[in-house]
Amino acid sequence: MSPTLRESCGVFGVVAPGEDVARITFYGLYALQHRGQESAGIASANERRLYLRTGMGLVSQVFDEEDLSYLPGHMAIGHTRYSTTGSSHAANAQPVVIEGPNGSLALGHNGNIVNAAVLRADLEQQGIAFTTGTDSEVIAQMLAHAPGASWEERWAYLMRRLEGAYSLVALTPQELIAARDPMGNRPLSLGRLNGGWVVASETCAFDHLGAEFIREVEPGEVVRITEHGVESFHAAARRDAFCIFEYIYFARPDSVLGGKLVYPVRMALGAQLAREHPADADVVIGMPDSATAAAVGYSQESGIPFIEGLVKNRYVGRTFIQPDQRMREMGVHLKFNPLPELLADRRVVLVDDSIVRATTTSRVVAMLRKAGAREVHLRITAPPIISPCFFGIDMGTRWELIAGRMTVEEIREQLDADSLGYLSVKGLIEAVGLPKEKFCLACFTGNYPISVPLQMDKLALEPPVGADRHEFEWTDVVPSISRRV
Ligand code: SF4
Repeated sequence: MSPTLRESCGVFGVVAPGEDVARITFYGLYALQHRGQESAGIASANERRLYLRTGMGLVSQVFDEEDLSYLPGHMAIGHTRYSTTGSSHAANAQPVVIEGPNGSLALGHNGNIVNAAVLRADLEQQGIAFTTGTDSEVIAQMLAHAPGASWEERWAYLMRRLEGAYSLVALTPQELIAARDPMGNRPLSLGRLNGGWVVASETCAFDHLGAEFIREVEPGEVVRITEHGVESFHAAARRDAFCIFEYIYFARPDSVLGGKLVYPVRMALGAQLAREHPADADVVIGMPDSATAAAVGYSQESGIPFIEGLVKNRYVGRTFIQPDQRMREMGVHLKFNPLPELLADRRVVLVDDSIVRATTTSRVVAMLRKAGAREVHLRITAPPIISPCFFGIDMGTRWELIAGRMTVEEIREQLDADSLGYLSVKGLIEAVGLPKEKFCLACFTGNYPISVPLQMDKLALEPPVGADRHEFEWTDVVPSISRRV
């Protein structure tokens, strides 16, 4: 899949008196690493005050034993970040900590607020100064300065004003609060751990900690957790629009979303794709690892054997060290390696989960051909992405989306595939097996579940003046291949 389609963040929280909550949060974030690899942070609380540690990099790079020992208390929240608003530097790492008239507050956010600029301007007019450019700080400042005699009233005030996607974890010295926007656009679940409570973006974090999944936080719900237990209230009426891309790509296959384990849903996507777009081929391979389950589903439905024709370098994470020009010219590909002995002279079905700008897909098709594949039939477990996401998924602007400006046949030609088939919106819904009304499908349909600001730069069909269009399109890169003898 395209490396340009990235989740914005993962959030985690725990209330567990007598436990090492910093260590629990570290391992919770470790399980959510796929949701953001740019920075990580943990805030803890012990009734009297908040403690904070944040840094750039992977969770395992940010924290050591000394950091964890600095984070005392019986409650903690954590965050892994990939930036969608605000640039990539340490000051933007979360949780954000604010000292306001309502006391100290730490906050971690997954999603994107579409009216953040307006809210920020309002706050600035009230004399509130910002230290970052993130919408998450806007939320934290609003909450820290919200009117109301109780946190319940302040959360209701906040959620009446926020427009957009947010799953939040917040910490005061006395309590942890988790909240989900009225669309429930980003996931958030509640679990039990040794008599305490945990919340996390995905249930896979509970499994790693030995916690029991209790339920999802509902759209529009605010959950307050203290050492005495859990209380919840609805601060806004729900109008469901869960991001369906969580099933297609973002979530880990071992997480449960909407009562469904993701792995079999992805198999069903592959099976549906095989019914909609059969292929006369010898083998099915999946883009590792995200499309493996779908490739297995395609194989089972079509009867075409599944093989692992591409090997992924599993330890490639986010790096700021780019390949040099010589490496680029040699076509060094750091992420995948094909197995020529399995692919030579075969007609190959390549299953992938999405095509955004098509750069990666075109390289992989070329890589398979160079490895000896006679035919490459590309099958995508999502409909064409024609419209940008305003809710926290970085897929660029409309003119950067290849399906926003080309027909399927033109894309096939550009990718040099023998055939190309996308899953239909109807087939996607059927395979997921939940009512269509529950989902946001905006990037496939252009119909947004709430009004989004008319950001001409994001919705424009042409690149801005001065932009190098070719930077975002097909680049004639020689793919890598290493022979095994
Ligand atoms: S626009 Fe697409 S990626 Fe964004 S929330 Fe909706 S379904 Fe998810």
